[in-house]
Amino acid sequence: MKNITLLGATGSIGKSTLSVIDQHPNQFNIFALSANTKWQAMLELCRQYQPTYAVMTNEEAADKLQSALNNDTQVLSGEQALCDIAAHQKTDYVMAAIVGAAGMSSALAAAKAGKRIMLANKESLVLAGDIFMDAVKHSGAELIPVDSEHSAIFQCLQGGRSGLSKIQLTASGGPFLHTPLSELQSITPDEACAHPNWSMGRKISVDSATMMNKGLEVIEAYYLFDLKPEQIDVVMHPQSIVHSSVYFDDGSTLSQLGNPDMRSVISYAMAYPQRISSGVAPLDLASNSPLEFYTPDLEKFACLKLAFEALKQGGNAMGTINAANEIAVDAFLNKTIGFLDIPQVIKQTLAQTKHAALNNLDAIIANDQEARGLASQIVAKYA
Ligand code: NAD
Ligand code: MG
Repeated sequence: MKNITLLGATGSIGKSTLSVIDQHPNQFNIFALSANTKWQAMLELCRQYQPTYAVMTNEEAADKLQSALNNDTQVLSGEQALCDIAAHQKTDYVMAAIVGAAGMSSALAAAKAGKRIMLANKESLVLAGDIFMDAVKHSGAELIPVDSEHSAIFQCLQGGRSGLSKIQLTASGGPFLHTPLSELQSITPDEACAHPNWSMGRKISVDSATMMNKGLEVIEAYYLFDLKPEQIDVVMHPQSIVHSSVYFDDGSTLSQLGNPDMRSVISYAMAYPQRISSGVAPLDLASNSPLEFYTPDLEKFACLKLAFEALKQGGNAMGTINAANEIAVDAFLNKTIGFLDIPQVIKQTLAQTKHAALNNLDAIIANDQEARGLASQIVAKYA
């Protein structure tokens, strides 16, 4: 029986994780759950799973949960509590599924404590890739990606990486793959969040529509698989059936395929190196044909281009674009700025930030805060 600490339990990945756990009650036990503000949803989860700990990052939400609960679950609050449950000696596996930079310190705490980290929070690697991978190496933690593309690559590399020449991340192109650039500015948040293949949280859904999600994934892959930037390629694949590919020197390409449902990825991370049922239907290739592939349009999807530029710049550039993106997406979701203003805010924030190498967590957090401040000022000009 493995004790699971599920960070971000009320989100899209959180729910899919619970669905996999429900199917294997003799293999996995919920040890701790976390959420931000949704204490009523957490109350339901505590009644159902009876975790030892429930962390609400928001203090007021923690108080409300505590007074509504009448079982043995201990309610904690704050960011430090997230790190404590992630590193707790009784935690075996941590599902890091908090959205955004807010998920970094708890994922890093799990890495330092030598846990199995099932990493959905790609922002941890974008912000602190070197520190994170160092922590994994030194603690002996197991890092298993919970991002469909990276899981695909991880699976394709199970036979080893001898002769690996490049990896290729697939990108659906989101809801606007065929929408002309001239029509994008008037897109509404609900239109941007209506992903044709995947059901996800709102932030990552907007990131998929701008393709910043793919940009963050390029950076995620760079750290996870220890590659050079030029070994990472992106191809548009609107059907989201081929989840990514690995190219080898002998002309072979390995790809991983499946229906677009994160429960496959999550169950793989939980059972690795075994495979268990996930509830996802087997793939029917004939009914999904034709599978299409295109080269991405980097003028239309300027965020992807910016992410490649940030990766090549290195240092604080990646944390800066991530912070600016979080501010810009939030402003877009609140209808303060338009869809095409998102890449503009990121581009200007990056241009106005002095290049610096970031060697420790304090510097990373300071850069994140500074970039958020700058991006907020730029957003105010567009509002
Ligand atoms: P979501 O918005 O559905 O859920 C986010 C979770 O994080 C919620 O439980 C929320 O309570 C918690 N949270 C939000 N802000 C917080 C804060 N400030 N402090 C503490 N907790 C906070 O998001 P999601 O779609 O489940 O995505 C979660 C992560 O997984 C993201 O990093 C995303 O990029 C990644 N991911 C998601 C998918 C997907 O299919 N949804 C696929 C690949 C990767
Ligand atoms: Mg992905």
